[in-house]
Amino acid sequence: MDKPGPSRDSRKDGPPPVPTPVCPECNNILYPKEDKPTKTLYYACRHCAYKEKAKSNCVYVNRVLREVDELKNIVPEVVSDPTLPRTDYHPCPACGHRDAVFFQSDKPNSEMRLYYVCAKCHECWTE
Ligand SMILES: [Zn+2]
Ligand SMILES: [Zn+2]
Repeated sequence: MDKPGPSRDSRKDGPPPVPTPVCPECNNILYPKEDKPTKTLYYACRHCAYKEKAKSNCVYVNRVLREVDELKNIVPEVVSDPTLPRTDYHPCPACGHRDAVFFQSDKPNSEMRLYYVCAKCHECWTE
């Protein structure tokens, strides 16, 4: 029996698309944000004050968890390493202090990502 019509359109290669949440107030795209104190992820609208909690199984959460795992390998003592470059351009997300050491991950298969360590409170973050 012949199937009616092509069915290829619904079978694309690559990862399944992640549904983009939109603001119910103004219909603009919601952007993922991490609330550091409570360690929760939420989506926030850039055009109005709307925000909502992210669903726990979304792809962005998995990515954040992997990054946090890599950040755990950073020793706070790097802030006293005189050979590392420093920046006052990136304020610390935890305390707002503008003096951080930054370096690139030395993992062979990791992305070219910069890591920052606050010189005051030793908070580690990446961008
Ligand atoms: Zn909105
Ligand atoms: Zn800090």
